[in-house]
Amino acid sequence: MFNVSAPSWFQSTPCIGEDQLFFSAHPSKRRMAVAICNNICQHKEECLKFALDNRQTLGVWGGKTGPDLIRLAEELASVD
Ligand code: SF4
Repeated sequence: MFNVSAPSWFQSTPCIGEDQLFFSAHPSKRRMAVAICNNICQHKEECLKFALDNRQTLGVWGGKTGPDLIRLAEELASVD
């Protein structure tokens, strides 16, 4: 999942060990992952910031899917 060091808060998240759900190619599984982010996880904001800061665009991070992450990264880049 990580190609950079995992942040310490990640050790207590509901997606730990759920790569097959959070990195699934199936839209229904990605929707389930997004629901977990939005409804259970207490680190959603940190997670989204981590993904954008570290250019993570595959899978689900902070309640966003890959296309959302790419769009947000592009928006942030255009502001800089
Ligand atoms: S927001 Fe989603 S992907 Fe991020 S740590 Fe929480 S459950 Fe995992």
